[in-house]
Amino acid sequence: MSSELTLVAPRGYCAGVDRAIETVEAVLEEHGPPVYVRGEIVHNQYVVKTLTEKGAVFVDSESEVPEGERIILSAHGVSPEVHRVCAERNLQVIDATCPLVSKVHAEVRRYASRGASVLLVGHADHDEVIGTRGEAPDKVILVEDLEQAYQVQVPDPDNVALTTQTTLSLDDTIEIVEVLRRRFPNITMPASSDICYATQNRQDAVKEVVADGADLVLVVGSRNSSNSMRMVEVARTSGADSYLLDDASELDPTWFEGKSKVALTAGASAPEILVQGVARALTEAGYLRTGEEIPSAEGVVFALPAPVRPPRS
Ligand code: SF4
Repeated sequence: MSSELTLVAPRGYCAGVDRAIETVEAVLEEHGPPVYVRGEIVHNQYVVKTLTEKGAVFVDSESEVPEGERIILSAHGVSPEVHRVCAERNLQVIDATCPLVSKVHAEVRRYASRGASVLLVGHADHDEVIGTRGEAPDKVILVEDLEQAYQVQVPDPDNVALTTQTTLSLDDTIEIVEVLRRRFPNITMPASSDICYATQNRQDAVKEVVADGADLVLVVGSRNSSNSMRMVEVARTSGADSYLLDDASELDPTWFEGKSKVALTAGASAPEILVQGVARALTEAGYLRTGEEIPSAEGVVFALPAPVRPPRS
């Protein structure tokens, strides 16, 4: 009996990542290199390497960019302090922050302006969280896990609001949020979940394929990609073995021992070309390929940032 390889959908690029990459490519095309990009435009090694080869220059800080130059801000969003420094250095800012991250920033500003303590569920070292916290550093309190949800203290328990990083595991977040709601019954919740559609859809698809019998789930993505890491966790919690890999070169034969149904998916910042590389390696090894050839039919598209938007005809 040959083993089966199921391509899972939706997988790979979300609308925010598509927009960010397209932004860098459009600016490179219009103005030529160098084009400065603050931080990894999206958390994927291959994407960063490919754009570097085309002339993008990735910098850790806006302070490294020569005065007056163009700078693209990554999809993860930045704090107002970064915008201040950019203005001080007279940089021409093209902001590729995902609109769904901007929505969370706006929530934090709104809650903080009412004097609320803002509980932000997320991971301290993630770029998105660093940017979101920066909207109201005196008001935002980070909650990283269940233990912190039980222990967090606020000045006024009746004036508390909640936001979350966009790329968390839905199941982990539900538990944390339940604890916070019990502890702060008057907590203000976002009108709709801050966890974005792409994160949710990719995790739901992983759960589904495991429920259908997949015993190994491979997730293409980089280690600093939060949503890719969460997909691995979701697969494991659902009952399958699961591994994250950047590309086919990282396939490990020991992963496949005793497995007959392998599922292949990708985080929101991983390009389809890398998924196809892994799929090809497995089909060459004898796996029978099934599932969805089209990575995503979610139908979500974000307009490019205003400075690179084509003029209306
Ligand atoms: S994962 Fe979600 S929040 Fe992040 S860039 Fe994609 S759509 Fe936006």
